[in-house]
Amino acid sequence: MSKNIDVELKNIQKKFGSSVVVDHFNLQIEQGECVSFLGPSGCGKTTTLNMIAGFLEPDQGELIIKGKRMNGVASNKRDLGMVFQTYSLFPHMTIFENVAYGLKLRKVPKAEIAARVGKVLELVKLPHVSDRYPKQLSGGQRQRIAIARALVTEPSLLLLDEPLSNLDAKLREELRDEMKRLQQEIGVTTIFVTHDQEEALYLSNRIVVLDHGRVEQIGTPWDIYNRPASEFVHTFIGKSNRMAGVVEQVYDGRMLLRTDAGFTLFGDSRDKQIAAKTNVSIYVRPEKITLHTDDRGTQDVNRTKGTVKLTSFLGAHTECEVEVGRYSVTVRVQSVEHNVSLQAGQTVYLEWKPEDVFVFPREGQGQ
Ligand code: ATP
Repeated sequence: MSKNIDVELKNIQKKFGSSVVVDHFNLQIEQGECVSFLGPSGCGKTTTLNMIAGFLEPDQGELIIKGKRMNGVASNKRDLGMVFQTYSLFPHMTIFENVAYGLKLRKVPKAEIAARVGKVLELVKLPHVSDRYPKQLSGGQRQRIAIARALVTEPSLLLLDEPLSNLDAKLREELRDEMKRLQQEIGVTTIFVTHDQEEALYLSNRIVVLDHGRVEQIGTPWDIYNRPASEFVHTFIGKSNRMAGVVEQVYDGRMLLRTDAGFTLFGDSRDKQIAAKTNVSIYVRPEKITLHTDDRGTQDVNRTKGTVKLTSFLGAHTECEVEVGRYSVTVRVQSVEHNVSLQAGQTVYLEWKPEDVFVFPREGQGQ
């Protein structure tokens, strides 16, 4: 079945002076998809978005939206809706006037403007604020209005640049839910820039992970979390325990690993091309480790003993720091399983599956 491609970036490159900030960026976005650009500060997310928006021109490469080449096309001719980190509403206009602005520019008849503004205010669940001014709204409400204003023109592409980052934690979560609902309801193709991995996992159909202007991986949230293409992607998404070590042997779909703390463990080698004797970084996520208070594990490999150093109750789960040799291993346990709280100094037994071990080659001999 042929896919409907709404946005295509072909070998896009951007330099500022001599530094390359976006390096041969290739991406196809399907109609109705929500794609996140995720990466640390300075990795080139906003620069890429600004090229798609038409605020910046690429030095190389082609940008295609809805089958049309957009290089050199003015921003207001690209049929985009945009929401930024700061609310960017016009302070001297009412909410109605703010939302109606784009339609007025397009010379849409008055009655139709009223109907469309009314509809989009319903959509963001703020139909009662149309006569107010932006300063009479809370931060979360203002950002909903900014979203309404971006959607009212029924753009072919919605660009969101960290729209949640000025809101407090509770509001962020609320608006995040709201944006997901809206995106699914309207089905507008969306690009969402964020440095917050949880937001990207929550909202996106696919995530583009960027580092230093380069695309590290493009994949579904599941792929990015469970099949990271690099150590950078693995460590950027979610918490993980790291140990340094070496691959001792590779056989029968397994890897025997020796950590520099002296103990051995097994990894899964089916998808990995890592030869014996390679220096590696070894990772296990806190939620993939099972903790027992007695020595009655279920596995014949990847079991070790440790000492509880610290526990932190976090509601649904408890995070526990366990000393294993010279490593401090974080384990996430369901709080209900350990309602008799774990004590510092207590001996515990940890185990994890070979397929939950992530192994990445390590450059040189360093740690
Ligand atoms: P943040 O999350 O902090 O916004 P980002 O991933 O969006 O970061 P960009 O704003 O795209 O990153 O910036 C990428 C790199 O380009 C950074 O090193 C930045 O300093 C540089 N940069 C951005 N705009 C310009 C400019 N107009 N002139 C020179 N350098 C720039």
